[in-house]
Amino acid sequence: MGPVKAAQCATTVSQQFPNVRFALMVGIGAGIPSLPRRDIRLGDIAVSIPQDNHPGVVQYDFGKYEQDGFVLKGSLNKPPSVLVSADGSLEEDEIMNRSLLRKILRDITKRPGFSQPNADDILYDQSFHHVNKGSDCSGCEQSDEKKLVSRALRPQKQPVVHQGLILSGSGVIKNPQDRDRLRRDYNDAICFEMEAAGIMDEIPCLVVQGICDYADTHKQDGWHHFAAAVAAAYCKAVLRKVDRQDVEETSSMSFLMKAILDNQSIIQGGVDAIDQKIDLARLPVAEGASFNSYTNQHEDACLPGTRTKLLHDIEDWVNDAHDWPGDDSIQALVTMAIPLFIFAATLCRFVGDMKWNPEKRLAVILKDQAVSQASKMDRTYLPILNQLLTGQDENESEQLVQEFQEIVGVIYSSCKSTLSCCPRTAS
Ligand SMILES: [Zn+2]
Repeated sequence: MGPVKAAQCATTVSQQFPNVRFALMVGIGAGIPSLPRRDIRLGDIAVSIPQDNHPGVVQYDFGKYEQDGFVLKGSLNKPPSVLVSADGSLEEDEIMNRSLLRKILRDITKRPGFSQPNADDILYDQSFHHVNKGSDCSGCEQSDEKKLVSRALRPQKQPVVHQGLILSGSGVIKNPQDRDRLRRDYNDAICFEMEAAGIMDEIPCLVVQGICDYADTHKQDGWHHFAAAVAAAYCKAVLRKVDRQDVEETSSMSFLMKAILDNQSIIQGGVDAIDQKIDLARLPVAEGASFNSYTNQHEDACLPGTRTKLLHDIEDWVNDAHDWPGDDSIQALVTMAIPLFIFAATLCRFVGDMKWNPEKRLAVILKDQAVSQASKMDRTYLPILNQLLTGQDENESEQLVQEFQEIVGVIYSSCKSTLSCCPRTAS
């Protein structure tokens, strides 16, 4: 099947059956003998129990080649604790000779096609390769050059359960050199198989494999059915040992999916915040800038979407600026300035003073000009004087009066010279 199709299958199962809490991945695989430490034989059982810091299953062909060699990428989930505990309980039973596994296996292997093969269980030395084409090993057995690995006879023809690391990958290992190299790379690995890597991260599961060959050139099919039956028998025995309360306390797939989605949302929020910080770091700092009502909250940089009122104010001002003060106001000011054109200069200084609001000042000038019955001189300068002296503190008033005197002084000098040369205008 391979890891990709296995992953698709696992995804479908987890979607269709959201209350599934765990799974058993049962199949047949290639044993990795490592005598004298591990005497793994055909028909034995390999179980993915985490040991010595490994998670039970490693996807040995998923990674990249770096300077120091092949480096694995990522890691797979561990099997569910409820199944690891059941495996431990079954192992205790076997030690105490309460042979639940043997009883179940006896029942399964009674079925046609699932009995133990009559063929010999031969482990060839890694230097001796398969003689004939095809899976028939009769040529190897008859060869004068054959080299066998010497193994003691087992007193009982019963499967042995091996707990340890299972290597999962998309390729078939049919080479004893590659097999032994991978065993050395992944210390104490016991079995190769081809589906677990696609399933482990989809559904929490324990991987159980019946050993049907030795991952060498002598691969044969004769042990497939018996190895499958042995693995199935082991799973049935493990399920008998599963504690009901442990199952009820195990999270279902739907709960796990919700937890994963929640974590994904939290992580996404963190990523967005990091992106935002990175973007803010690129913003130039506006030295001395203030932001209207946000002045007291001044920061060197602004968050996206904040402090936009200033921009709106500037936009409104730009759009309205070309109309200000408007044709009517300009015409009124021109009328006021005739014939005393120095008034224009005075008005410009008065309205254009950066310290005051120009719109308010202009409004005062035009209003007093419209309603006042005073002389032209009064209509021109009284509103300016009144505005200067209203609402200012003592120091500002003194400064403004001084400025006003300087302006009026210039005007008075101009008027005096005009009156001396034109008596009718003076009247
Ligand atoms: Zn052979």
